[in-house]
Amino acid sequence: MMNRRQFFSTAAGAAALVRLPDAFAAAKYDLIVKGGRVIDPSRKLDAIRDVAIADGRIAAVAANIRADAAETIDAGGKLVVPGLIDIHTHAARVKGGPELCLADGVTGWIDAGSQGADRIGETIAIAKSAPQQGRVLINIGRAGILPEGDTMDLSHADVAAAREAIGRNRDMIAGVKARLSRDVAGANDFEVLKRAQEAASAYKLPVMIHMGQTVSPLPKLIALLKPGDVVTHMFAPPPNSIIDDSGHILPEVMAARRRGVWFDLGNGRAGHLRWDIADSVLKAGFLPDTFSTDWTPEGRAAGVIDFENVMSKFLMLGMSLDQVIACATSTASRTFPVFRDRGTLKVGAPADVAVLELREGTFEFVDNFENKRTGRQRLFPSATVLAGKRVATRA
Ligand SMILES: [Zn+2]
Repeated sequence: MMNRRQFFSTAAGAAALVRLPDAFAAAKYDLIVKGGRVIDPSRKLDAIRDVAIADGRIAAVAANIRADAAETIDAGGKLVVPGLIDIHTHAARVKGGPELCLADGVTGWIDAGSQGADRIGETIAIAKSAPQQGRVLINIGRAGILPEGDTMDLSHADVAAAREAIGRNRDMIAGVKARLSRDVAGANDFEVLKRAQEAASAYKLPVMIHMGQTVSPLPKLIALLKPGDVVTHMFAPPPNSIIDDSGHILPEVMAARRRGVWFDLGNGRAGHLRWDIADSVLKAGFLPDTFSTDWTPEGRAAGVIDFENVMSKFLMLGMSLDQVIACATSTASRTFPVFRDRGTLKVGAPADVAVLELREGTFEFVDNFENKRTGRQRLFPSATVLAGKRVATRA
């Protein structure tokens, strides 16, 4: 009796290879996510499919994969999408933050300016020990987020200190954050943004601005943005919204998008999102590129709750399911290089997968001004796979 290897080494064995029964020929997968509605905007796919995973990567996406697997997730009746990417969080502000985000299906995040040069090491330590991909933006205000305003004292916007910190942490600092609202930067907003660009340009990094309620007019600030920069809090109400009183997107905002500036939601809790502004902006056809939660532990309890809740607000506002998923996956993956191979379920990609439940019912959503609206659909996290392994989902 020949063993398997000897059999295949013979001519007869090679010939027989094509006729081997399924069970013998089948590849063995580590995990199969079975029978879900796979929505992968990166490939314009929306169909019932199985997703097979081996060695931490997507191995196959097909109908009725019949091979055996060590573990199976039954995704019948659910959505199967790439792992969610949240490009504006404060996950690295608190120990355990990344784990809480992961429990909501977030397999990649950016901490957007929780710390500046003085204490950037604290956020970097949390990012490095996070289970999923996490990077930080360094606040141009060297003391980070301050209750009295990060750069109200202009000396806090210290280019040399920021550059030095980036130089020491090239692998973990993905960009520079400039928070520009009146209560954060006062009349310094334009100078603060100029300094943020100076710090970033030395390393060819993007700048993310926190817009809305600024002293300077938005067109003056937006003129300083280069391709790849990010505008967060895009639905902020006046003064200095992206839209004027007659419902037209500012020409400078349109021009910024054309030159490759990203426009991001940044849900947050106060001051950033107002339903009537979102209505007008979407009606003008200016859709967000990315969704982000502006996640904090406090937001987790009210206002934000989870990434799925934030996504669901935009289903309510009339965006399609496909558009909403794209904002949280494929488009988000293009904003920072760390996510370039993510946000997709194509074969060979790292196996980060979010299984979501789209429930029908009556759901109350709140903007940042205590205005409540009722939606008829709400996404919920159901199961999360990170690098091919199932992780616990928020109960
Ligand atoms: Zn923020």
